[in-house]
Amino acid sequence: MKRQLKIVLLVMISCVMLLMMMSFNAQATSVNRYIIARHLSPVKISTQIWRGFPRYKYRHGKGKPEGVVVHETGNPHSTIFDEIAYMKKNYRNAFVHTFVDSSHIINIASTNYLCWGVGYPGNARFVQFEQVEMHSKASFAHEVENAAYYTAYILRKYHLKPNDAAYDGKGTVWSHNAVAKYLGGSDHTDPVGYYKRAGRKYFHKAYTMSQFYKLVLRNYRRK
Ligand SMILES: [Zn+2]
Repeated sequence: MKRQLKIVLLVMISCVMLLMMMSFNAQATSVNRYIIARHLSPVKISTQIWRGFPRYKYRHGKGKPEGVVVHETGNPHSTIFDEIAYMKKNYRNAFVHTFVDSSHIINIASTNYLCWGVGYPGNARFVQFEQVEMHSKASFAHEVENAAYYTAYILRKYHLKPNDAAYDGKGTVWSHNAVAKYLGGSDHTDPVGYYKRAGRKYFHKAYTMSQFYKLVLRNYRRK
């Protein structure tokens, strides 16, 4: 009887260990869980406003954005500094407020005025930032955390409630893809492709805007 009890206990312990290992593996494949497990924290926002950008009010006025648009540069070979230099030279075609990578959040244009990243009518409504492409597991995770933190920071700064715009074209957190789909102004689909590719490459599973939105909520709720 005693021996039987021992066997039962051993089986139970093995089962528990197996379940723990399985859940650890599942966690390892999720970008958000990796960020939480490793206690990755966002970097500080660096404000380096360039005076050369034009200053036009949002449709509801100065300092009245209605949400945030998440972009990705689509350039696999550039650094954040390359991108900022390029944008200052070519701002007449397009510019955004802020750039994000794994170790920087650099705000280059005042978010109290509109920028030119998604065309009409989105430009008159949203704060917009670009993510630069990262090339490792840790740097991609860090960048996503920085991007989610910055999104939450802008929502708080302008007293906007988090609301994922992906489902109905109404809300405060937008991908460029969602802006193009619901509001027009361009045919861009970023950062959907980049998230999918980098997620698959480094975490064996596509990363999605809805997962990113969860990370925004986590940052928004964090005091
Ligand atoms: Zn874009």
